[in-house]
Amino acid sequence: MAEERKVSEHYAAIAKAWIDSRDEFEHLKDASIIYLESDHRKKSKRKKVFGLCEKVQDKNKWAIPADFTITFYRPHMEKLSEWQQEIVVYHELLHVGFYGEDEPMQTIPHDMEDFRQVIDMFGSHWDEDGADLLNTALLIEISEDASYLEESENSKGGEE
Ligand SMILES: [Zn+2]
Repeated sequence: MAEERKVSEHYAAIAKAWIDSRDEFEHLKDASIIYLESDHRKKSKRKKVFGLCEKVQDKNKWAIPADFTITFYRPHMEKLSEWQQEIVVYHELLHVGFYGEDEPMQTIPHDMEDFRQVIDMFGSHWDEDGADLLNTALLIEISEDASYLEESENSKGGEE
């Protein structure tokens, strides 16, 4: 079955909440990123892949008008809690190597199996079932910001 990807306002809202609220994402405020959801059960080295950050190649920009795409794999993501999903979004944003329109762009590789920053913030077993997450207050704040952003996006030009 061919993989299907569609644009996701849900993940865009979570990403915007992270970018707006955290200094480590200050450089991403002007980055152009398209957030996608895929129905594919992606694996890499037999591990589930939750998200994938890709730089859009210059030759493809006529079709994908962005510098980066971040794809989230629904069959794996839907098994995670809302907070764990937020951490996946945080993780994927750390892959975005954007430092301004005129600077070279690239995806940033992990510094360990995960990013040290993700492990330090949320605990090393954050992706396991029933994981005890660190920094839950921050995750609650991001959920609230994201649902606010998503609601205001949905109410643009619609009927109530
Ligand atoms: Zn990664």
